[in-house]
Amino acid sequence: MSVSTAIILAAGMGMRLRSEHTGRPKGLVRVHGDTLVGRSLRLLSRFGMDRIILVTGYEAAHYQAMAAAWPNVELVHNDRYATTGSMASLDLALDVVDDDVLVLESDLYYESRTLDLLLATKVEDVVLVSGPTAAGDEVWVQAPTGQLQAMSKDRSTLSSVFGEFVGVCRFSRFLTKRMRHAFRAFQNAHGHGMMSYETDALVQVCTEQPVTVHLEPTLLWGEIDDASHLRRVRDTIAPRVARIEGQGARPGRREVLLNPGPATTTTTVKHALIMPDICPRERGYTDKLADVLTRLARLVGDPDSCTAIPIIGSGTAAMESVVGSVVHDGRSLVIIDNGNYGDRFAAIAQRLRVEQHVVSYGWGKPIDIEALDRTLASLADRASHLAVVHHETSSGRLNPLSSIASLCEKHGLSLIVDAMSSFAAISIDLQKDGVDFLISSANKCIQGMAGLAFVLARNTAIERARGARPRGYYLDLVAQFDHIRTTGQTRFTSPPQIVSALEQALTELELETISGRRARYDASYRALTQGLKELGFELLLGSNEQSRILVTVREPEQPWFDFDTMHDHLLTRGFTVYPGKPAGGPTFRLSVLGAIDEFDIHDFLVALGAFVRERRASYKPLRMDHRLTPE
Ligand code: PLP
Ligand code: MG
Ligand code: MG
Repeated sequence: MSVSTAIILAAGMGMRLRSEHTGRPKGLVRVHGDTLVGRSLRLLSRFGMDRIILVTGYEAAHYQAMAAAWPNVELVHNDRYATTGSMASLDLALDVVDDDVLVLESDLYYESRTLDLLLATKVEDVVLVSGPTAAGDEVWVQAPTGQLQAMSKDRSTLSSVFGEFVGVCRFSRFLTKRMRHAFRAFQNAHGHGMMSYETDALVQVCTEQPVTVHLEPTLLWGEIDDASHLRRVRDTIAPRVARIEGQGARPGRREVLLNPGPATTTTTVKHALIMPDICPRERGYTDKLADVLTRLARLVGDPDSCTAIPIIGSGTAAMESVVGSVVHDGRSLVIIDNGNYGDRFAAIAQRLRVEQHVVSYGWGKPIDIEALDRTLASLADRASHLAVVHHETSSGRLNPLSSIASLCEKHGLSLIVDAMSSFAAISIDLQKDGVDFLISSANKCIQGMAGLAFVLARNTAIERARGARPRGYYLDLVAQFDHIRTTGQTRFTSPPQIVSALEQALTELELETISGRRARYDASYRALTQGLKELGFELLLGSNEQSRILVTVREPEQPWFDFDTMHDHLLTRGFTVYPGKPAGGPTFRLSVLGAIDEFDIHDFLVALGAFVRERRASYKPLRMDHRLTPE
């Protein structure tokens, strides 16, 4: 019988890991970026598990968001996790399962072939053992004929050792029935004491029903119960697994992107790209697109009064679409420029021959609101729109949206906001915040895939744009709005896979909420800036000017520092860093946007710290010793 259900036992408290990992279940320990349970979910899903029962206990809330992102995961909670053993957790899972199952522990890191071995075998009840790991805390298995006889952490109680218990098993429903029976008998005799599923229940029933022990002498795996196990897995097991499982595409390795988008995505968002082929003109797709657009609109207001208009292309396409579609002939666009993206608005307007007034403050500099007020007063009879970049990703400066919106209201200007790298991390309500057009894309704080931008517009502002001469054909914003309204389709080919990933990203955003996302980015940002300061780096902007989504870091003007060398050192370790813009002087940029958290930042700082120390040490000035002894 084939197996399509897995049970992950994740209720334990992980007491011995407290020093490394406080307040979270140990299945959420990260190894090279991925959590242990997240990695298991990914592998189990890849191996065809339709149902994965995750038994939670200690700090269960941490698993809820994760589980919600996986349609095949169900949570079962063991509220007596602190006083019951692993058999009680397995028993609860079996309440909702009547199939053959894979059973695995949450604190395991293992080669993916582990699952292959258990799923491919013809035998129904199998325990997997490996050769010696010397990891400490081993469970030894006695099985002289290849059938389970006994297992124990105390080697002296066994007459022989066949291998080490890995913690991944395949059980038939007949075997689990017997194990539950043994558990009931145990409960009757001992009340609610501790019973382990493997060393107690399984060992008891293996005399009634044979359990095969499959020995895989060279299997790479590790259980993480304490800090030394974690080091062993991070330093020796995971790198070897990565090498074996493909160096080229490295499907197993999660890259932590500290460039400001395209951002690191969750595994579930990556998985959403794989879907049945579909013609984007079919209902199955247009319904999905409509749902995604409504949910995008809901993030900035009431979907009855504002609309998400997809622009197929990168973020700049949406900037160009708005600039080229909304300003009537004879009126002009005021552009606020204090960085590269303000500059880009101006370059677009110039190329499209949209009349513009650029108000420049200098790269990275703050906007002088009083001076802007006077400038706008002087442009009153000509200007109709004002464009500003909310988060200037070129420097990390957050421009003051509410002050600018007030000025726009005062001077009767329609406000266009490039919120490319702030939307979904900072709440914006089009109506309340006085924004008519908000521009963003799927691959930044919304944490989807690159290739799709969008404009979130107030419907009244779209109506006012009618009659403006569209300066482009493909990027005609009003035409796209009308076409979607009447046909449900985009004017030109829509990318179903990117929209599918965006749909999943939206689900994950709705679960996390924008304020939750802001809090996560904040925690990463605090860890990052503190770590950078401890390593002696200086930041370009003061903390009150900061978006807290990206920092620009000054390059140390010292012989040991070289950006490219640092970049390459970090990239081989899974971290991508980003150069600064020339206008900021010698700098580099680090962003916390995307599906990363403070734990990734800690790992990054360890890698960066190692680079700094190595380079400093190798560039120590040579000491001249003048007291040479005569020969
Ligand atoms: N505007 C801002 C504020 C950005 O950060 C970016 C990209 O980083 C863009 C516009 C341009 O987006 P894209 O490179 O996707 O065209
Ligand atoms: Mg253990
Ligand atoms: Mg354990």
